[in-house]
Parts: sequence; C-alpha cells; structure tokens
Amino acid sequence: MPEHFDAIVVGAGPAGSTAARELAAAGARVLLLDREHFPRYKACGGGIPRRTARVLPFPLDPVVEDEVSLLDIAWRGRCRFVRDSGEPFAAMVMRDRFDALLLDYAQRAGAEFRQGSPVRTLEAAPAGVSVTTEGGFSAGAQFLIAADGAHSPVGKMAGLGAGLAECAAYEVEVRAPAHRVRANRATAFIELGFRPWGYAWVFPKAEVLSVGIVLPPDQAGTMKQQVSAYLQRLGLGGAPVDISRGHKIRFRRGAERIADDRVLLAGDAAGLADEFTQEGIFYAIESGRIAARAVLRALAGQAPLFAYQRDIDRELMPELRAARLIAHMFYGMLGRFPGPWLLATRALPYLWDAFFAVQRGESTYAREVHRVPILPAMAQRRLAQT
Ligand SMILES: Cc1cc2nc3c(=O)[nH]c(=O)nc-3n(C[C@H](O)[C@H](O)[C@H](O)COP(=O)(O)OP(=O)(O)OC[C@H]3O[C@@H](n4cnc5c(N)ncnc54)[C@H](O)[C@@H]3O)c2cc1C
Repeated sequence: MPEHFDAIVVGAGPAGSTAARELAAAGARVLLLDREHFPRYKACGGGIPRRTARVLPFPLDPVVEDEVSLLDIAWRGRCRFVRDSGEPFAAMVMRDRFDALLLDYAQRAGAEFRQGSPVRTLEAAPAGVSVTTEGGFSAGAQFLIAADGAHSPVGKMAGLGAGLAECAAYEVEVRAPAHRVRANRATAFIELGFRPWGYAWVFPKAEVLSVGIVLPPDQAGTMKQQVSAYLQRLGLGGAPVDISRGHKIRFRRGAERIADDRVLLAGDAAGLADEFTQEGIFYAIESGRIAARAVLRALAGQAPLFAYQRDIDRELMPELRAARLIAHMFYGMLGRFPGPWLLATRALPYLWDAFFAVQRGESTYAREVHRVPILPAMAQRRLAQT
C-alpha cells in the first residue's frame, strides 16, 4: 500500500517549501517532492524584494550575498541615471542557497522530503489524490499542492492553469573580474529599450554578476544574442560564464482555474508573477502560505479546497493587476517617448520612489495606482488596444 499523507506538495521552490513548512508546522503530515537533487540551480536573478523578509518567520541573512539600495537605469546604454532608495530595497541571493534554506525550514517543521523524484502521474478521485514518481514510488494524500514552476506538468495533469499568459527570461552567471564585482556592490542595473517591453539586468552577488533579460515570449529565440550584446556594452564580453539558462514566467490575468476539490496551484504554476518587474518569489511565498491555509481548512472540513482560488483573487490578484497596469503605462510611454519619458521619471522621482516603497513593503502597487487617478484610465485604454 502506498504511504498516505494529509497533503503532497510537488516542487520545493519558494512556493512549495513555504506551503510544506506551514502545513507541517500546523501538525499536518506532508510529503514534499522535487524532481531535482538539492541544492539545485534555478535560472533567476535572485532579487528578493525586502517585503519578502516580512512574510517569512526566519532570517534570510545566511544566504544574502548583497543588498541593493541603488537603481542604475539606462536606455540602451544612454540616458543613464541612478536613483537611491536611501536604504536597501532588495536582497540578492543565489537561488540554490536560498531555496535550500526554505527547504531546510520545511524539513525542520516536519515535512518529509524526497528529492530526485519527478512526478509522472497524478490520479485525483473524490476520496483523495495519488502520485507516482519516476522510479515507481507512489504516495496518496487528501490534497495536493502543485508548486512545480512555470511549466507545471502536475498542474496540467490536474487540468488546471490553462490559458495563463507567459514571457521568456534568460540568465547568465558571469564570473566578472573581482574589481567589477566590487564596483557593482549595492546596485541593481536595469537596461531598458527592448520592444514592445522588457529589460535586462545586472544583479550583484558575492562571487558573480547575475546578468539576464526578460522579453515577450515571441522573442525567446533572441534572448541569448541580446544578452551577449548587453555583456559587450557592459565591457564583460570576454568574461567567463559559469552557467546560462532560460525559463519562462507565467502570468494570471483573469479567472483562470487554479484549484479544484483536490488540487491547487501555487507560485509560478498559478501564474502569480508581477508583470512590471516579472518577479515571482514574493508571490510564490505568499501563495504558498495561502495554499497551506486552504489545505488546513479543507482538512478540517471548514471549506472546500477550491475556495483557495477565491482567496488568491482577493489577496493577490489586485496587486498583480495593478502591476500590470503600471507595466502597460510605463512601457507604453517608454515606447513612444523614450528620452523625454526617462527624463521625466528622473526629474519627477515619484515613479522610482513608489517602486522602492513597494519593494520595501511600505506600499503596494494597488495603492500607488490609486494615488495617480489618471493612471488606471490611461493604462486601461492601452490594455484595451492590446
Ligand atoms: C531568468 C529569470 C529571472 C528571474 N528573476 C527573478 C528575480 O530576480 N526575482 C524574483 O522575485 N523572481 C524572479 N524570477 C521569477 C522566479 O524565479 C519565480 O517566480 C519563482 O521561482 C517561482 O517559485 P515557485 O516555487 O513557484 O517555482 P520554482 O522556483 O520554479 O520551483 C518549482 C520546483 O518544482 C520542481 N518540479 C517541476 N516539475 C516537477 C515534477 N514533475 N515533479 C517534481 N518536482 C517538479 C522543480 O524542480 C522546482 O524545484 C525570475 C525568473 C526567471 C526565469
């Protein structure tokens, strides 16, 4: 007989490890499965907005490689200017160490972890769910959380997450000369000027510079070449690259189904990433918490599991919708009037100050959108045209 759990969580990224930790800490019997062996590399800039620390009950210090308070913005190498947040607005991590820390806390709370275990089949019945991994291990549970990332094979098996939008991102870990790594400390570099939207970045880490790009999905094929050109512009064309990898990011824009009676999706699997910055770690952790709460409620017979979708609609979607409006307004103006628009955001620092406040957890996109009453109307008009 396969072992039986209260909940199975597939995927030990930020969403899955958070859900598993919260469930185990509340006394549930939890199995956490991941196809990889940990610590594992994840293509990611590793920029963790400061507000993330506020929703985790343990310090991130052991894995923080740098903290950034400066934002260096340029348009294709021109119109360059720097904004200062006054205090750190984001921590910089390498995802192998960050995810291993979150996993460690899930295991300490009592979650059972099986690595190197790709889930290959899922059966959901009125009485519960069961999974089989490559290698033939099987287990059953009352409920399943699919936190298996943007491709979400398990979400697809459950028939959830159809119709989510997506974009493409690519990351290279550059072993830049030590003086360049030092010179980049405390600064996040953002390069604009990609059409119709997108940006490239350089994020400082202890030993490397994480350089990447995010673009609409139809430009995925150009990402490698665009990052090479960016590295050339940075004078890092010849620097050795430790690792380079692309991955997609998904966005939930409407009422796409992310839960049923037995299975729910969390993090990237549910498309919970922000369309202004394309960040997803904060929302992965938040949705992991909300998912654990929904499973505990369902285990206690207080509400059906699919009520999770309503929770996400109420607690996360207003913020993600506001981020989308800001993205449309920002990239719309940048596309039409790049120089004047950047000069305007430099002269009237409202936009960047608001961005810093959101990153630090002192404001939200939703609040900032409503502080500029013309913004929703402008962005809505643009959204209606796309
Ligand atoms: C290039 C790039 C740069 C990014 N930069 C940033 C950034 O700087 N800041 C930020 O906030 N966000 C960033 N993001 C987004 C961020 O990486 C994601 O939003 C975040 O990782 C989502 O976490 P998650 O737990 O939902 O999924 P993931 O972190 O993707 O974890 C999913 C896990 O599921 C496992 N899995 C998948 N399939 C199976 C299976 N069949 N069986 C078992 N396990 C399985 C995987 O091995 C993985 O460990 C970036 C994304 C990309 C692609």
